[in-house]
Amino acid sequence: MTHNARAMSNDHPLVKIVLVETSHPGNIGSAARAMKTMGFTELVLVAPVNSPDAVATSMAAGADDVLFHAKTVMTLAEALADCHLVVGSTARPRGFSVPEYAPQEGIAKVVEGVQTGLKTALVFGRERTGLTNAEIDFCHHLIRIPSHAEYSSLNLSQAVQVLSYEYRMQWLATLPEQSLHQLTATATQQESAKAIERPATSAELDSLYAHWQQCFTESGFLQDDNHERLMRFIKVMMNRSHPSLQEVNILRGMLSSVCRYQAE
Ligand code: SAH
Repeated sequence: MTHNARAMSNDHPLVKIVLVETSHPGNIGSAARAMKTMGFTELVLVAPVNSPDAVATSMAAGADDVLFHAKTVMTLAEALADCHLVVGSTARPRGFSVPEYAPQEGIAKVVEGVQTGLKTALVFGRERTGLTNAEIDFCHHLIRIPSHAEYSSLNLSQAVQVLSYEYRMQWLATLPEQSLHQLTATATQQESAKAIERPATSAELDSLYAHWQQCFTESGFLQDDNHERLMRFIKVMMNRSHPSLQEVNILRGMLSSVCRYQAE
């Protein structure tokens, strides 16, 4: 595949856009274009139904470099492994307790997190069915564009455009501070990467859940007929409290001492 060789700086290096099981390569191309116009370049494709092709390239127009550098992974967990903050984009209200915001409020929380050095994912679902409940369990919060109730679903790449535009507007508004922040970003990121007080990543939470599930399956508390519901309850609760790595480690220590089981 040929691609636009002009190197473009990534204005938002801590934010990645994640598209889950996209069917139409054209939508992947349009999403790449939407991203690049707003200064985003990190695109991750989770098990795309059809890989980016000539249609994707043509829809990407001058953003074919974003497409070319897109990373493809097989699971959402892999895409989110290094992320401290995960935000899902959903076309319809979801009937459970993951907080849901309109773009302005939801993106404000993202900008705030990024300013403290959190690696963040904005996650978009399949064209026909959106995100599954299990995928939403990874999210700290959801954003819903308040579209018409009787026709609420935007084209995938247009949803990417709206949220990345909102992000850019809020980011531009912080620019004087942001420039200062950028000067010290590397140092701050290194410090926060070391700091045990930083929020746990998705991968760290996943190991906690695996440990939790194993302990309480062994103890008999989790059983075939309830483990899915109870684990879900735990994930929603943990995401609401957005625990630090230190807190996750303490919980794992407690699990180990109760269940005499040490994962890995
Ligand atoms: N019928 C699906 C729509 C999927 S549209 C459903 O009801 O979930 C594909 C993706 O675009 C969605 O998963 C979501 O990430 C994004 N999207 C579409 N419309 C949106 C809206 N109004 N608000 C936020 N995200 C939206």
